[in-house]
Amino acid sequence: MFELLKTDPQTKARLGKLTTAHGLVETPVFMPVGTQASVKALDPRELREMGTQIILGNTYHLNLRPGLDILRAAGGLHKFMNWEKPILTDSGGFQVFSLAKIRKIKPHGVEFRSHLDGSLLFLGPKEAMEIQRVLGSDIAMVFDECPAHDAPAREQRLAVERTIRWAGECREQPRADGQKVFGIVQGGSNAALREECAKALVAMDFDGYAIGGVSVGEPEPEMLKAIEITEPHLPANKARYAMGLGTPAQMIELIARGVDMFDCVLPTRIARTGTAVTHTGAFALKGAAYKTDFGPIEEGCECFACRHFTRAYLRHLVRANEILGLRMVSVHNSHLFLKIMTEVRAAIAGGTFAEFYREFIAHYTPSQKVLAQRRQKTGR
Ligand SMILES: [Zn+2]
Repeated sequence: MFELLKTDPQTKARLGKLTTAHGLVETPVFMPVGTQASVKALDPRELREMGTQIILGNTYHLNLRPGLDILRAAGGLHKFMNWEKPILTDSGGFQVFSLAKIRKIKPHGVEFRSHLDGSLLFLGPKEAMEIQRVLGSDIAMVFDECPAHDAPAREQRLAVERTIRWAGECREQPRADGQKVFGIVQGGSNAALREECAKALVAMDFDGYAIGGVSVGEPEPEMLKAIEITEPHLPANKARYAMGLGTPAQMIELIARGVDMFDCVLPTRIARTGTAVTHTGAFALKGAAYKTDFGPIEEGCECFACRHFTRAYLRHLVRANEILGLRMVSVHNSHLFLKIMTEVRAAIAGGTFAEFYREFIAHYTPSQKVLAQRRQKTGR
């Protein structure tokens, strides 16, 4: 399924190609997130135009609403949302452990209450794989347990044990035609647990491997560490996916550490509050500085928003709560994340990734939150 085309000689960056039932995906790749069968505020034509190769859907949310009967009658998720390219579906493990009110963790899954209407539901390996089979995603994820980043050691160990057992059960379930399945490595920031989980999953020979238990509220240094202690235990000939990450600079850092796939709600989430991302960092369009700034969000950007609208106009739309404002910032932000991946792939192919990496990080201003986390880590 995954072909490793080139490895950067100075970093761990990789150039690759994923073959799925709905087409090829060039890696490193950013996957826009369409949790509820929609990448928020963007339609399939816009996604195609900005070069989207693959999007994400979500088992937990789609199972609650619209529900499996409707998705089955629609002929699967691709047809339901009119998206012909590849789709990866998350298993719902993350949402059960973060959104739902858990009643009981049982040997074969979790009993929980829906965050929408409080109804009592059950999701385990068998159910998660059946839902993903009906959705017909190109890549299904195993049902895992994702504990909080500060969960006690005993809880982290139990989560790893369940994740391994449930991965084995997922592997045995029926799949949609051509559907691939990725394992998910848990273990928090504990190197021994990460190694144990990775080795057990690799022995089950999944089509690819995700690093889970990141982007769960941990500071950036801890996130990077979780990736660094997991990556050496993953096979070179399978795709690696860091779940729920990250900012442009974090994605570049992770690519340099050997990660191939990313998904993040950031580009569309921050767009809704009028925050735009560029190659040098994020900025709030609402700022008075942009009142009469008649340049585009980012100079040289080929996205629809930058080709047609000025910062001053978009600032006005955002302040007036006009839907077009949040739509256009979503277009720019999503386009930027995809564009950076195109630049990364060209740099790895051309043998200049190490230089690209240095330059990118040197020019990118991280958010105040990330800077504070780094200061805390170094004790400054
Ligand atoms: Zn743009």
